[in-house]
Amino acid sequence: MCGIIGYVGHQQVQNLLLDGLHRLEYRGYDSAGIAVLEGGQISLTKKAGRVQELGHAVAEAPLQGHIGIGHTRWATHGEVNDTNSHPHFGGDGEICLVHNGVIENYSTLRKKLRERGFEFVTTTDSEVVAHLLAYEYRQGLEQGGRVGSQQLCVDALQATLIQLKGTYGLAVLYRDCPDTMYVARVGSPLVIGIGDHENFVASDASPLAVHTEEVVYLSDNEIAILTPDDVQIIHRDSGAVDLKIQVLDQSAGDSELGDFPHYMLKEIYEQPQSIENAMRGRFDEDEATAVFGGLNMTAKELRKVDRIVLTACGTSWHAGLVGEYLLEEFARIPTEVEYASELRYRNPPMSENTMIFSITQSGETADTLAAMRECKRKGHPTLAICNVVGSTIAREADGGIYLHAGPEIGVASTKAFTSQVTVLTLLSLFFGRMRHLSYPAGKRIIRHLRDIPAQVEETLKCHEMVKYVCEKYARYNNFLYLGRLYNFPVALEGALKLKEISYIHAEGYPAAEMKHGPIALVDEVTPSVFVVPKCGIYPKVISNLEEVKARKGPVIAIACKGDEKIAELADDVIYVPDVEEYLQPLVTSIPLQLLSYHIALHRGCNVDRPRNLAKSVTVE
Ligand code: GLU
Repeated sequence: MCGIIGYVGHQQVQNLLLDGLHRLEYRGYDSAGIAVLEGGQISLTKKAGRVQELGHAVAEAPLQGHIGIGHTRWATHGEVNDTNSHPHFGGDGEICLVHNGVIENYSTLRKKLRERGFEFVTTTDSEVVAHLLAYEYRQGLEQGGRVGSQQLCVDALQATLIQLKGTYGLAVLYRDCPDTMYVARVGSPLVIGIGDHENFVASDASPLAVHTEEVVYLSDNEIAILTPDDVQIIHRDSGAVDLKIQVLDQSAGDSELGDFPHYMLKEIYEQPQSIENAMRGRFDEDEATAVFGGLNMTAKELRKVDRIVLTACGTSWHAGLVGEYLLEEFARIPTEVEYASELRYRNPPMSENTMIFSITQSGETADTLAAMRECKRKGHPTLAICNVVGSTIAREADGGIYLHAGPEIGVASTKAFTSQVTVLTLLSLFFGRMRHLSYPAGKRIIRHLRDIPAQVEETLKCHEMVKYVCEKYARYNNFLYLGRLYNFPVALEGALKLKEISYIHAEGYPAAEMKHGPIALVDEVTPSVFVVPKCGIYPKVISNLEEVKARKGPVIAIACKGDEKIAELADDVIYVPDVEEYLQPLVTSIPLQLLSYHIALHRGCNVDRPRNLAKSVTVE
């Protein structure tokens, strides 16, 4: 959600900023802009719409300079238009900044600043930060500060930040300060890239990987001062902070599209590999269990865990639901899945030995972070299952498990989901083997898991059939997705994928629950996608399917290879390999990802950048 890029160094900055914004596009946005400082003047171009359009605008009137900031906006306050796009000027143009996040007390601040004579040209919350900073800068000058001095700029920034309530990632240029960029964060991610006589800042590492391998993750309440040859970090309220330089674990090529038309399709096809990566080095064959490097808890502490809470949003929440079934079946630990946005404000009773797992692809999801902090405050061990190395949640958790899925760029999550499910399966094996699970049972699970990447590869062969089915059903406007047990979360996830990228109304439901309401929706133009691979209650799911057929609802079945009976009942069947019941989500989710992808294409939707959605949801 929203992207920030900033540069200070020896290169001409305009195209570098545009390239950075292109690489941040996947995060989701509605407008874009850049500002460049040169010769004591800040020039700015910004537009509602795509980065490509911004590119056309600056091609006609190029911006010259070696220091600049860029932004992709995902509007939270104020409509989407050219004026509200970032960057924003403060004062009479002495400040120019980009902001990610939400300033909660913006209306009080705006009122005060208006009384002081500041004129607002936008309806955003962000413009108050620019004017407030200009005000504080002027106050500093009046008190004898030297024009453009680092001390004055930092003091003004500190004085501003302490007045802000809410969240921010900020990159700031001062007109009087020709070679320094200031950045600050609370609640919105910023990564600094260290180069050779040049330095960078960005919302995540994807635009940095083409320039440098060395990065510093900014923490909340830190301010960074970037010049071409130096990076200093100070705490907002105290002194200097040591620079913890880390080496990036992603190369620029990881974020390239290659031969695929869309990131979503590329990522669907990466799943045999990403699942393999989630398991790599995590089996202990001798003990018939899983091993994790970063849980940071002793065996004794882990054995004491008497309840697990998995908290997440969206697709990760669905992965959590599979996790609940797995953990309860194999580890016999009572497990709940909580929406992070609810958990953060709820106060459920939790025993001392309740363990919290936050599941998030980006590691920046604002609600998940807040829920995790709330649980941490109450003394529970908090662990993260996340993909982005060095992300805020990864850093703040007591320990955790990385997915190692590589960058996920498509807004609709695909490979992160299957990697999360894989990790949760390993976790269930791990906890199970500490408790009731026998050695042979552990061995069996490992064997089944090892077979999964090849079975997922095999599953991808359903692609042609999925295309055929999509041609038939792409024009329908309502869908039901139904499954039971391990395939109930898959049904939810399938429906979510369709909503996200095709803008079609879809409901995911436990198949048997349907008769308590959604069956009223069934008619000739409401297809039901039944996830019905072979399982212990297969005949029951078939009965549910018959109930839909009896009401003339078209049925698309996701079934196991060799299931001939289903072909007589369903209108269309997409076959997947027959795998163990508890591993079915790893294969049954794949045709549903492809289904939403092709339906979206048929309907002319932008698959990788669906409207209104953001990849990394960094606002509440
Ligand atoms: N709240 C700001 C706005 O609506 C920033 C949004 C963002 O993070 O992109 O302009």
